[in-house]
Amino acid sequence: MNTEREDVVRLEEEDEILDVELEENLLKRNEELAQQNRKLLDEHGVLCIDVMGSVGSGKTTLLEKIAQKLKEKYRIAVIAGDVTTTIDADRIKRQGVSSIQVNTGRECHLDANLVRKALERIDLDSIDVLFIENVGNLICPADFPLGAHKRVVVVSITEGEYMILKHPMIFRDADVIVINKVDLAEAMGVDPEKLVGDALQINPRAKVVKAALRDGAGVDEVIQALGL
Ligand code: MG
Ligand code: ZN
Repeated sequence: MNTEREDVVRLEEEDEILDVELEENLLKRNEELAQQNRKLLDEHGVLCIDVMGSVGSGKTTLLEKIAQKLKEKYRIAVIAGDVTTTIDADRIKRQGVSSIQVNTGRECHLDANLVRKALERIDLDSIDVLFIENVGNLICPADFPLGAHKRVVVVSITEGEYMILKHPMIFRDADVIVINKVDLAEAMGVDPEKLVGDALQINPRAKVVKAALRDGAGVDEVIQALGL
């Protein structure tokens, strides 16, 4: 990073930011619950995939398209996280896949405790693959593992060319990164290859897929990248 600049304020080691201790306890508790979720999923042989990305990036569309393609091959369920609506869960249900809505109220992310509650309502023996659509947000979901085996981040061209560089944490932990709406690249003046490069710079082990999900482009590649 660049050195001292008078027009930049940085958080230093010695700075206290709000309730650091409280936050550490909270994250530790979340981590424990995430491990319990993972254990429960493993006991029932369920593969769980956490799908993250901003509002409007294409998370639900990706899940609709995957459900269309894989619902004969696997028994699929979806946990749809949202602040207040059931729009996404309803969209998924229309694909003939069972879905549970988790409304977070004021919270801008799902946490392992909310997912645990949702898991209690799912007959885990009757499914093979569980997708979790996280709340539309690229910041805190990175800090709150849910117990999923894999993490997918969907980012769209319409979010601008700096979206990935500005949210390194969430991309660093992703297994699959989907660059969506590449069909709009020219209109947006954003080069998809730049986003691919940014993604791989932050996370060289990620599988990066360019997609136009509304038209179904890239869906097979995402499925393959997830090993499904
Ligand atoms: Mg959605
Ligand atoms: Zn949050």
